[in-house]
Amino acid sequence: MSKKRAIILDRDGVLIEDKDYSYKIEDLEILPGVIKGLKQLQSNFIFFIVTNQAGIGKGYYTLEDFHKYNNHLISILNDNHIKIEKTFFCPHVKEDNCDCRKPNPKFIKEIANQWDIDLESSWMIGDHPSDIQFGINGGCKTVYMITGHGKKHLRDLKENKIVPTLVHSNFLEAVEEIRKLKI
Ligand SMILES: [Mg+2]
Ligand SMILES: [Zn+2]
Repeated sequence: MSKKRAIILDRDGVLIEDKDYSYKIEDLEILPGVIKGLKQLQSNFIFFIVTNQAGIGKGYYTLEDFHKYNNHLISILNDNHIKIEKTFFCPHVKEDNCDCRKPNPKFIKEIANQWDIDLESSWMIGDHPSDIQFGINGGCKTVYMITGHGKKHLRDLKENKIVPTLVHSNFLEAVEEIRKLKI
């Protein structure tokens, strides 16, 4: 059997509006095109979320708050018949120097090993340079979304010579190009 292909999704600023360390269910807002886009990808890819949640390490919200908020997103996606295989999150702050914070490729390697994923034909979609570096470190194709923090960090991306495969400002358009490319 051939290996599976994955779409690895950053959460805040890609799937949902990034409201800076948000954790309250009433603040959860799914971005335009996300539901429709994921549905279109579902026949060819399986989905994962990989998210840096420094808000936990900084004490802005608890682990329980994070799970509650994330489970709410997962349940909305489930209601739309979209399955996220697993959410991987880093609860640390940068200064902790942990091994799970993006761009460290720990979670991408875990995904590849446990789900038998062909990374070369898989994608990381994110709105921060560290998402793109994470995807590159893991050997994926990447989409840099100019939603969320994407616009703000566009210069960092260039200065650090981090080159995403695609750049998009709308999730559905990114999906359409991924489907067209057939990498
Ligand atoms: Mg983000
Ligand atoms: Zn970590």
